[in-house]
Amino acid sequence: MTVSDPRDVVAAKRDGKHLAPGELAAFVEGYTKGQIPDYLASAFLMAAFIRGLDPAETLALTHVMVDSGRTLPLDRVSRPKVDKHSTGGVADGVTLAFAPLGASLGLAVAKLSGRGLGHTGGTLDKLESIPGLRTDLEPEAFERQVEVIGCAVAAQTADLVPADGALYALRDATATVPSIPLIAASVMSKKLVVGTDLILLDVKAGSGAFMKTPEDAEQLARVCTGLARDWGRTCRAAVTDMSQPLGDAIGNALDVAEAVELLGGGSRGRLREVVLTFAAEAVSRLSGHDLGEGRRRAAEALDSGAALEAFRRMIEAQGGDAHVVDDPWGVLPRAPVRRPIVAEAAGYLTAVDAAALGRASSDLGAGRKRKGDRIDPAVGIVFRPKVGDRVESGEELGIVHTRDEDAAGACAARVLGALTLSEDPVEAPALVYGWYGR
Ligand code: URA
Repeated sequence: MTVSDPRDVVAAKRDGKHLAPGELAAFVEGYTKGQIPDYLASAFLMAAFIRGLDPAETLALTHVMVDSGRTLPLDRVSRPKVDKHSTGGVADGVTLAFAPLGASLGLAVAKLSGRGLGHTGGTLDKLESIPGLRTDLEPEAFERQVEVIGCAVAAQTADLVPADGALYALRDATATVPSIPLIAASVMSKKLVVGTDLILLDVKAGSGAFMKTPEDAEQLARVCTGLARDWGRTCRAAVTDMSQPLGDAIGNALDVAEAVELLGGGSRGRLREVVLTFAAEAVSRLSGHDLGEGRRRAAEALDSGAALEAFRRMIEAQGGDAHVVDDPWGVLPRAPVRRPIVAEAAGYLTAVDAAALGRASSDLGAGRKRKGDRIDPAVGIVFRPKVGDRVESGEELGIVHTRDEDAAGACAARVLGALTLSEDPVEAPALVYGWYGR
């Protein structure tokens, strides 16, 4: 079907009308093929953002995105196959660690990833800070790597979910990301084209997420797992806390360095906990062990260095300098200016505006302002304290990594401005609010 006048589709959505599956499909197909210009697609996205999409429209959008390219059945992969996706957060290095960890546990982790979106980081951008590393894998090479190495992280290509590739970049540039149906269709289209046995979703909730409350995140989790059910796929979604940066590193190379430390068993804390939670779920669903045993095996793979070795093999297979696992800062790009973030007052950390930290890092160059912008892999923020920690005046809370001194001062001030301290102790927030799907 072709759209006779795409403005009619935009106008219908603007006026809150239900779009027939064919109309929606023709519009998205027309945009993906370059027949509909960015300005009309932007208007459509904003109308959909404000008016919403009902379940039938969300299903139709997901269908057209899935059908926009080829599928990857992964028939030649003999290990149990799992895919994992985060809806986006700050200092969210879970996927970077989960993929090689899963491989080291005998699973096949097949992952089509996205770039940084809004204030959130993207796994592809992070991985590409490793010199030489390629994420534009051909489908056959992707499948071969998943079979041989046990994990691959790649971008969607002209072949794989091109409609999401086009819409994702446009949403990032037009402030139309935090919409439940648009996120659900985007995430699930990338999961449904890959033939895995299990889809795991990390649906983030809190100040650093697109869904600000656990209730909205639960709704997103239910829409995503519902789409998986429509396709007859097994999908489990956890709503996890993003009311503060999950790990410490907010950037690209900085996140890779943090992942290397975690994969080598060298870190504790909330990021490791979430990684272990998803690994335990994958092992228990796919290898028949109970959750406790899955978690024990995953922790052992981190602490024994097995997961780090799997990361080395994945980087090598994707053309990157695998020496990064031995000496991250001998390999990764490093910003010339590194300035400490120093607390100006004492108290208990009660809240962190994680999105503000994400934006501050993005404004240094770690993220994009416009579609197609190049990012600076070296810059970013390391911020260590977590909600509930006691902070003393004069204490170093982290480091900003920037290109010049002015940017460093301004960024450190923005970080301090994003913190709330109180006299009274506060509890650390929960890490996992709930699981959804089957
Ligand atoms: N991750 C995605 O893949 N798509 C979105 O829209 C948001 C997060």
